[in-house]
Amino acid sequence: MNLPLPGFLRPNNGRRNRGDNAKAPPLGADGPLTLMAVMAHPDDIDFGSAGSIAKWCDEGWTVYYVLATSGDKGTHDPDMTRQELAALREEEQRAAARVLGVKDVIFLGYPDGFLQATPELRGQIVRLFRTYKPDVVMTFDGFRPSFNHNDHRNIGIAVRDAVYPATRDRLYYPEHATAGLAPEHRVNEMLLTGADKPDYFVDVSAYIEKKADAMLAHHSQISSHDRDALIKRLRSGRRTETFKRVRIIRTPQPQANAAAQAVPTAASAGAAP
Ligand SMILES: [Zn+2]
Repeated sequence: MNLPLPGFLRPNNGRRNRGDNAKAPPLGADGPLTLMAVMAHPDDIDFGSAGSIAKWCDEGWTVYYVLATSGDKGTHDPDMTRQELAALREEEQRAAARVLGVKDVIFLGYPDGFLQATPELRGQIVRLFRTYKPDVVMTFDGFRPSFNHNDHRNIGIAVRDAVYPATRDRLYYPEHATAGLAPEHRVNEMLLTGADKPDYFVDVSAYIEKKADAMLAHHSQISSHDRDALIKRLRSGRRTETFKRVRIIRTPQPQANAAAQAVPTAASAGAAP
């Protein structure tokens, strides 16, 4: 390889930060506070992380949701078709995102349950990173050794491979540059959900009601729609949301805030790379 020695991904595995990242710089320290959550299904972000998303939006972060599938298998209703369910769940996801202050929601349209970490999927994610320029990316821990959903595992792997090195190196998916996108972007860090050993904890005490409303927006996916009961349950449980934080160790570089610039529509951004 003639490429310069790359930066590398190093998990905060407890030796460096003793489990709470207390010695690490604050999340998004190198800015510009743009977070892109790339997950498999509508509700994946909100059921686990809606309180954190609400907090970050409240603090001025620009947040984007990307869902690889529209969750077209998630029903026990014998009369529901896949197309109807996908449309319903996309609307539910958009409603939840509005509750939290998310800037945009993008669906990639892959079939639920069969996601694979293909070069095509990776390219679509790279295209989004080069378009929206997130400094923090959220996804599933695709390498969790315990039981995991096929789609959660594969989106986690695809996102990780998109973050490094494909988004950074212009010769990956050179058609993006031809289409007018800046060909290189560096993501600063990742937050992994569903990790066996989380090491980053967000206190969401002040955002319980918003979290409940975002969860309730996924009407087809929950059995009880009693808002007061849900808020009571959330308040009585652990009021933290947990992640594994993976910082990309390299010399920090100031990054442009793509959110202030014109960006393609969700539909065009979700097109094939
Ligand atoms: Zn899921």
